Amino acid sequence: MFEEGKKLIEEAKTIYITAHINPDGDAIGSTYAMYFALKKLNKDVHVIMPAYSDIFEFLPSISICEKSIDCDKYDLLIGMDSSDYSRIAVSKEEYDKARKVLMIDHHQKSNPYGDVRYIYPDISSTSELVYDIISYLNIPIDNVMASYMYMGIMTDTGSFNYSNTSAKTHMVVADLINKGADSTNICKMLNDTIKEAKLFLLKKTIENMEVYFDSKVRYSYVDYDTINSLGLDEEDAEGMTNYLRMVKGTWVAIYVRGKKDGSFKVSMRSSGQVDLSKIAIMFNGGGHPRAAGYTITGDLEVAKNKLLNAIEAVIK
Ligand code: 5GP
Ligand code: MN
Repeated sequence: MFEEGKKLIEEAKTIYITAHINPDGDAIGSTYAMYFALKKLNKDVHVIMPAYSDIFEFLPSISICEKSIDCDKYDLLIGMDSSDYSRIAVSKEEYDKARKVLMIDHHQKSNPYGDVRYIYPDISSTSELVYDIISYLNIPIDNVMASYMYMGIMTDTGSFNYSNTSAKTHMVVADLINKGADSTNICKMLNDTIKEAKLFLLKKTIENMEVYFDSKVRYSYVDYDTINSLGLDEEDAEGMTNYLRMVKGTWVAIYVRGKKDGSFKVSMRSSGQVDLSKIAIMFNGGGHPRAAGYTITGDLEVAKNKLLNAIEAVIK
């Protein structure tokens, strides 16, 4: 099943792995699990990780990552959890220098890249897919690898709540816990710990909430100055959308935040009635049916109305 990828890995002496910008738990989990697995094969392996939230700082050896490397000096680039090469943390110029590229992803809609592509939209997370690949390669799983894969699967399934969680997902997770995944601590640090500034961001998000279409759609916007004055980094200003979606009767939740460069990041969550990946693609973004996003570069009000119209057309 992973024979071609196995060949690519076997033939490479030097490998670098990267994930999508604004990396979430799955992007980080899949990348580091693969990093530690390839180290066991005695590969010269490196991670290039874009700026990540400091909520992940507690993870073992997370700081080994580099900001950039000379891509032409390495035999293989692995792109993790990124539906498009433009979303990975290497520039187009560097990407073009890559000798061989292996794409590992689980997004429904993608713009496939690379010499070998493993894209499995029915698998919960890239981390679960990495588990399958590592198992295929017969690489023993230690507690650190298990922790990273557990973290990726847990975050991408909303703690095993979302419909992408299969019986097999649970079997994989059971195996990871058997192999020493630090599950209790990971859940405490990621699900049960919040910075005070983020609590104030939540307050702002709720204050600014607008409700549309018989309360099926909840929208909120927080501007960059507010985020900045709370002392929150870009990566820390995320995670508000779920709170809006949790209100009973909500089909779609939208959280928009202002960015330093004057653009706006749109983050959407659905309860299943609306396929948000289709909506996001209309605005040059992407994602999953229940979690998708895109960036607005023009006027926010105009873009907001376009988005609400697109959603209205689907829910009516
Ligand atoms: P989030 O709301 O957490 O930022 O993103 C949810 C999902 O949508 C993620 O799986 C992510 O891959 C996807 N996504 C978010 N923003 C973008 C974007 O600008 N472009 C693409 N292609 N996907 C995005
Ligand atoms: Mn993912």
